[in-house]
Amino acid sequence: MEKESLDKIHIKNLEVFGNHGVFPEENKLGQKFLVNAVLYTSTREAGKTDDLTKSIHYGEVSHFITKYMMEHTFQLIESVAEQLAEALLLQFEHLKWIDLEIQKPWAPIGLPLESVSVEISRGWHEAFIATGSNLGDRGEYIRKGIEALAACKECVVEKESQLIVTEPYGVTDQPEFLNGMLQVRTLLSPIELLHKLNEIEAAAYRERKVHWGPRTLDLDIIFYDNQVIDIPQLTVPHVDMQNRQFVLEPLAELAPWYRHPILGKTVKELLISLENEN
Ligand code: ADP
Ligand code: MG
Repeated sequence: MEKESLDKIHIKNLEVFGNHGVFPEENKLGQKFLVNAVLYTSTREAGKTDDLTKSIHYGEVSHFITKYMMEHTFQLIESVAEQLAEALLLQFEHLKWIDLEIQKPWAPIGLPLESVSVEISRGWHEAFIATGSNLGDRGEYIRKGIEALAACKECVVEKESQLIVTEPYGVTDQPEFLNGMLQVRTLLSPIELLHKLNEIEAAAYRERKVHWGPRTLDLDIIFYDNQVIDIPQLTVPHVDMQNRQFVLEPLAELAPWYRHPILGKTVKELLISLENEN
């Protein structure tokens, strides 16, 4: 979700008394914290209908922040910000993104500074994940994989494509594949998501011996928002997706209009180009 295209609700200088800090006295005596939050959402519906349930109740958010910061104790304000942002994003349905600043006006450093603070920006991302299996009970491996992903609290599986039977790709003397696509809303970063997928694959006893060889479960990140990522462990959009019918077909079922951030073509256009080549 592009936060630039959303509306904002501001909470300024909410005072909370908490016990966060690295020094034991801070944990015991506590001190004042100031919280600034920018809540990103679309206020359009609420604005048109005058219906609070269509927006975010800033009173509830303020109470949630206060309670959370009083009930938990962290050493670092980095942790306060990180954990609180996640809790808020999980709690409030219409909250798509948040800028959260935790300020410590009385930071005990023995110098006359006005205040110190950490500010972070966190939100929901959209990812498309390809699923594949060509060993054992293929449908069952894929189903278990989806269940495992749905059980991760930072991931919401929003849509599933049909599974299609496809001929093996690359190494061709192996069983047929079953392939599908998932649309997932996630709070995980791309690398965290990759690690999560690897964990789920490992649980399906996947043997990583033959590249493109038989596997019980393969989970690949196809798109992550419209980000372009090129690091040794991860290439997004998936480097070979435009050449794979078994990726494009289920993807076109979920998001034919999604535009590839480098190739500039929609999924539907990529699928048609590939079909015309063959
Ligand atoms: P493949 O999916 O190409 O058949 P693997 O599943 O064995 O092969 O993946 C090998 C490595 O590819 C993974 O360990 C991962 O680090 C890397 N990789 C690069 N880009 C991606 C991506 N977009 N999604 C999943 N894995 C990726
Ligand atoms: Mg893979």
